[in-house]
Amino acid sequence: MVDLRAAIRTIPDYPKPGILFRDITTLLSDPRAFRAAIDQLVAPHSNSQIRHVVGVEARGFILGGALAHQLSAGFIPIRKKGKLPGETVSVTYELEYGQDEMELHRDAVLPGERVLLTDDLIATGGTAVGAVELLRGLGAEIVAACFLVDLPDLGGARKLRELGVEVHALCEFE
Ligand code: IMP
Repeated sequence: MVDLRAAIRTIPDYPKPGILFRDITTLLSDPRAFRAAIDQLVAPHSNSQIRHVVGVEARGFILGGALAHQLSAGFIPIRKKGKLPGETVSVTYELEYGQDEMELHRDAVLPGERVLLTDDLIATGGTAVGAVELLRGLGAEIVAACFLVDLPDLGGARKLRELGVEVHALCEFE
């Protein structure tokens, strides 16, 4: 059994003093840990008939591509404002300090389509809640949201569950 939590490196004082940054690049670069993480994230969904995995820029793309392949699903990116070439829908979402905007192609999902949302980590939930708004705005059915890491003290997973989204995370840090 691979210890996924141990495969994640903690960098103190990044991006600013007092923050403990959970660096998943060490998990991604470890062949056994990366495979185990993808296997564990897809396990609950092998019969969920997921049509698309939706990944949030940028680390959600790395997981999302691998998950989509394993689930024989397509992949859809949610990107920072101004990066997608087609017609988009956008949402303003809350960051720890301030706001940002992210976008999804308007024709990426059809009403009723079953999607799995993914990102590397959920903290306050601002990013994931914004992604849920975008997807539900287009009528998608969000089967679940999955993450490598949950920081439960920051309440993001709880917020998502309050919105009726099933949440899976492979490990937690305080
Ligand atoms: P939230 O919107 O507060 O839930 O923050 C989650 C977003 O910020 C995700 O897109 C993460 O990639 C990023 N993030 C926040 N803290 C960390 C961290 O400690 N390590 C890696 N990514 C983080």
